[in-house]
Amino acid sequence: MTIHHHPGDETLLRLAAGTLGAGSALVVAVHLEGCTRCREHLAGFEAVGGAILEEMPPAPLAADLFGRTMERLQAIPSTPVREPPPKKQPALGIELPQAMRHCEVGPWRWLGPGFHWSKVKLAESPEAKIMLLKGRAGLHLPAHGHTGLEFMQVLAGSLSDERGRYFPGDLDEADDEVDHRPVVGRESDCICLAALEGDTRLHGILGRLLRPLVGF
Ligand SMILES: [Zn+2]
Repeated sequence: MTIHHHPGDETLLRLAAGTLGAGSALVVAVHLEGCTRCREHLAGFEAVGGAILEEMPPAPLAADLFGRTMERLQAIPSTPVREPPPKKQPALGIELPQAMRHCEVGPWRWLGPGFHWSKVKLAESPEAKIMLLKGRAGLHLPAHGHTGLEFMQVLAGSLSDERGRYFPGDLDEADDEVDHRPVVGRESDCICLAALEGDTRLHGILGRLLRPLVGF
């Protein structure tokens, strides 16, 4: 699988710093699963971040805080951290990525002719705006813009807009500047995982369709 579209450096830095929204972080985590290049970039950013932290002079309160934190840590019984069991997910016609195994995923729901969506929920961030979108082969999606960042990872099929063509493994970051009109490739249906960052709102008919359903 050749990946042509990756998250930007700023997005990977925000992921490393823990400041990326939960929904966007999930979409990027799905991308990282299949992208060695971005995993390496992220590891580089994390290493730099760690070095900066190490070089920072200790704060005056830190010594006492450190002692108390160590006491607390020693008091915690050393049972291994158990990951929550994977959620039971509906049959959506594709195998969902590993990064989504703890998500609550709804069934496909009709959104328009040839166009379906499924709500994706994260237990720890129920407010995150995340969804799976499925478009029929050859479908022209309504033109839309947004007031913030939209992250989208292609899971199956392909999609193109004025900026290029996106295949499985590709991640698209669209900001305020982008007003696009995606078209689904003719070879098969396209399934994408999408997240809107923070207060991002979709404009145009797509926004009007989705807003009453998902509150976007
Ligand atoms: Zn990548």
